[in-house]
Amino acid sequence: MKPAGVTLSPESFRDAVISPYGAPISSLLVRSSGLTSGSDPHGRQIYIIQPIILYRKYKPTAIFTGTALLPENRVLVCKNDGTVEAIINEPEAGDDVELLDGLLSPGFINAHCHIELSHFKGIIPEHTGLVNFVGQVMTRREEKNAEEKLAAMQAAQQELWESGTVAVGDICNTTDSFIIKQNSPLYWHNFIEVTGFVDAAAQKRLIDAEQILKQFLQTSSMVNGQASMVPHAPYSVSKALFQLLNDRTANQIITIHNQESTAEDELYKTKSGDFLAFYKNFGIDISSFEPTAKSGLQSWLPYFNNHQKIISVHNSFTSQADIDFAQNKLSFCLCPNANLYIENVLPPVELLVQNDCNIILGTDSYASNHQLNMMAEIDTIQKNFPLIPLATILQWATLNGAKALGIEKDFGSFEKGKRPGLVLIKDGQAKKV
Ligand SMILES: [Zn+2]
Repeated sequence: MKPAGVTLSPESFRDAVISPYGAPISSLLVRSSGLTSGSDPHGRQIYIIQPIILYRKYKPTAIFTGTALLPENRVLVCKNDGTVEAIINEPEAGDDVELLDGLLSPGFINAHCHIELSHFKGIIPEHTGLVNFVGQVMTRREEKNAEEKLAAMQAAQQELWESGTVAVGDICNTTDSFIIKQNSPLYWHNFIEVTGFVDAAAQKRLIDAEQILKQFLQTSSMVNGQASMVPHAPYSVSKALFQLLNDRTANQIITIHNQESTAEDELYKTKSGDFLAFYKNFGIDISSFEPTAKSGLQSWLPYFNNHQKIISVHNSFTSQADIDFAQNKLSFCLCPNANLYIENVLPPVELLVQNDCNIILGTDSYASNHQLNMMAEIDTIQKNFPLIPLATILQWATLNGAKALGIEKDFGSFEKGKRPGLVLIKDGQAKKV
């Protein structure tokens, strides 16, 4: 580079700065510069070099890339806006390396949440069982006013963000959460949930959900994310509604609560179990429901044959026969802390791993969880299934979740050009960098 004060054309300056591509990356990073021009007292044009730091370089204790833990002494290089440039060896990194104490991971993908239920925090007791839990969510939604609901959602979003979540698969029964999503730093896939266990009401239920979906889609430019219509659960969606939803969701990403309790399989196999009293309580006429003699999963999955990408959530009582039946068509989303909260059970994690299932993670909502912190879900899996390596679980929480939500182009791993967010993990705690 020519000495300061010597006239330098923008072209030659640009060449001087940019041509080191291929030279040690440190020279490129340190010399990234801006340029302004002016003239000296004799009217000669001069260019002034203004150093601008365009990159940030992080050297944590270890790096998880989205698929693997790297050996020590690696440096993650990002642009100032967080776009990944490279992972390089420490000696090549030059100056200005920021040291981080902990494991650096791409931002978490929380594939199952209901932020609009945040006002339920601490309200429903633990271990009530699913049927009782669902009844309480249905009857107690309006115990808080709009202001309290909004404040609860804002606090929830704050916790998600600060604990390293960058994208959420979020169930919506209403447009309540719309307001916080308009100005959110997070990516949201809004799953507009449809319920209705009586065939005769199916069309109306779909139309009502269409209205909510429309609002999310119409202002999609204001909302960072996507929206699609989804069934709630096998025990709350009728045959006619499943069929309508299949027509309505061709090639889309859908999700469904699956096998969260044994009552679900009992209902489908023999039309018996705790759900019968539940329907009676709520005056739901189930005379047209016919048991299939199959499990819940084996009953609902065949309805979807329009190339949907399907996320099956909870799966606490999913069996080998169900996994065989699903033939890798599903992403299995696990929310272990919610399962412990409601039913005091854990999903069959080892069985899913042995079968090489595509596993992803979510927190569910404050109605069934004390926190919306993905690290707490990872901790629970580590404690209860200590043979599963941390890198495997982290991949569920990052790249697998991103793929399930169709956002792996931007999220889920430290690959050049992605902007996946950074999470620092230390002593079982995760925080956004
Ligand atoms: Zn849920």
